[in-house]
Amino acid sequence: MSENCCSQASAGSAVCELPSSTIQRLSYPETVCFECHQRGKAVQRQTVKALVSVSLRAIQDTQYYFCRTQSCPVVYYAADWKSTFTIPQLRERVYQKEPNADDVYVCYCFRYTVTEIRNASSETRVVIVNDIIAGIQSDQCACDLRNPQGSCCLGNVRSLMKQVNRMSTQP
Ligand SMILES: [Zn+2]
Repeated sequence: MSENCCSQASAGSAVCELPSSTIQRLSYPETVCFECHQRGKAVQRQTVKALVSVSLRAIQDTQYYFCRTQSCPVVYYAADWKSTFTIPQLRERVYQKEPNADDVYVCYCFRYTVTEIRNASSETRVVIVNDIIAGIQSDQCACDLRNPQGSCCLGNVRSLMKQVNRMSTQP
């Protein structure tokens, strides 16, 4: 039995999975970003199509990668580096590029921002995670069309919550 909550046939939710440790990996080799020289993560072309604010005529028939380096302006780049999209060319702000911005989304499908998660009590944080999980289980997520990284946000949400926990337990 697959742990994937979402049917592959269901548009927009092919990458939403539970638990987050089983997030589907695309089987493309990782390729470095020409700008920051860090390895990017392969994304589906539909993610690039959904997230860029420019004419989709600019999208090439090639494999795109997502650059998660905070200081790098490149968000998507083609394997041959001939096609790239930078932060101002996106319709959404990118959590990985602005992890400390108050109003940037961590969960793009169910609209939870960094601030909401930071300011939540530990009880509310549990409610937030359960809401996201319930949304995924109800097939209401569309991470490949909503989240610039093209995959499930749960890992990002959980690590942000761990960060917040660490900060709040420090003397
Ligand atoms: Zn980069």
